[in-house]
Amino acid sequence: MVYETTFYDILGVQPGCSSEELKKAYRKLALKYHPDKNPNEGEKFKQISMAYEVLSDPEKKAIYDEGGEAAIKKGGSGGGNFHSPMDLFHMFFNGGFSERKRERQAKNLIHQMQVTLEDLYNGTTRKLALQKNVICDMCDGIGGKKGAVHKCAPCRGTGVITKVQKIAPGLVQQYEERCRNCRGIGETMDEKDRCRECNGHKIVRVRKMLVIDVHRGMRDEQKIIVQGEGDQEPDMKPGDIVIVLEEKAHPIFKRHNDDLIMNIELQLTEALCGFQKVIKTLDGRDLLIQSNPGEVIKHNGYKCVYGEGMPFYKTPSDKGRLLIHFQVTFPDTLSIETVSEIRKLLPQPPNVELPEDVEHVELVTVRQEESRREDDEDYGHGAGPQVRMHQCNSS
Ligand SMILES: [Zn+2]
Ligand SMILES: [Zn+2]
Repeated sequence: MVYETTFYDILGVQPGCSSEELKKAYRKLALKYHPDKNPNEGEKFKQISMAYEVLSDPEKKAIYDEGGEAAIKKGGSGGGNFHSPMDLFHMFFNGGFSERKRERQAKNLIHQMQVTLEDLYNGTTRKLALQKNVICDMCDGIGGKKGAVHKCAPCRGTGVITKVQKIAPGLVQQYEERCRNCRGIGETMDEKDRCRECNGHKIVRVRKMLVIDVHRGMRDEQKIIVQGEGDQEPDMKPGDIVIVLEEKAHPIFKRHNDDLIMNIELQLTEALCGFQKVIKTLDGRDLLIQSNPGEVIKHNGYKCVYGEGMPFYKTPSDKGRLLIHFQVTFPDTLSIETVSEIRKLLPQPPNVELPEDVEHVELVTVRQEESRREDDEDYGHGAGPQVRMHQCNSS
């Protein structure tokens, strides 16, 4: 049984409703009657705020349920202090009213860290020197002698002053201003009591060295989070340090997920008659790759080596593939003798039958910029290795 139901009625809820129902009711009504939308309903907005503030606070709600509005207005045991309707509105919509304090966390420090592909392949540790705020040791984060800190009177410790400005007859505007007495901190202290170490700021700036483990298989833009090593602030959970990896371009290998891709240039002779190449891996081993007897390597073709790509993050003994993109260099010209020699050896070209009125035209080499323009339009070229996976062998 409650003493009266006025506050419940204002919000349109039943006594005994859940806090979720209460929040929902306040959210809907506060938005509807906010002075920005409904300048003539200022009184209603105030009632909604008061009702919500009382019913959402277990202590105030108990007083209200027992003695009604009169008991609340008499004050006592925390019943008399109220936020301005605007403050309440902002607190509610900036991340929830009652949860706000619990979730407060000091700033995270975000650092970008450049790593090489070798670092990501082999793993590495890095030392990182950084500046951060820590709670002052000298005053234990009080800012001065114990008991020297007072709640600022003009702003009642909130750091802001709500001002009312008349903008037209019968129309007032409410706005917030940073408290000048405490410069927005909400507290004041005598100059003589101020901590000398932190000058009353409660925190000091220190240099700190951190060791960061970069694990095998980590990727570009991956975040390494060091919890609780960020900035400290009084009455807040310390922030985190967030390291964002930035992979430097490698002169030979390109990474695509867990695969590595490299280009190999072959002379026409190597493409036709076989080749051998030695590849230096990211951990410094030498790999010999060679074509199979009688195999012809095509220009722009791909082959791959399983298990020679990047290590998988968290299971680094498994690795992706090394994809090799072949580029065959053709000779610009051949002597007539060479041509007749090769012609005897290579498969015979088809015979061309000439129609009676065939027209002879000149075949001209395409200029560089023209061929480039055609390349741009040919989207197929950009698709890279994915389109040719089926040519990969496991040898
Ligand atoms: Zn103040
Ligand atoms: Zn101090």
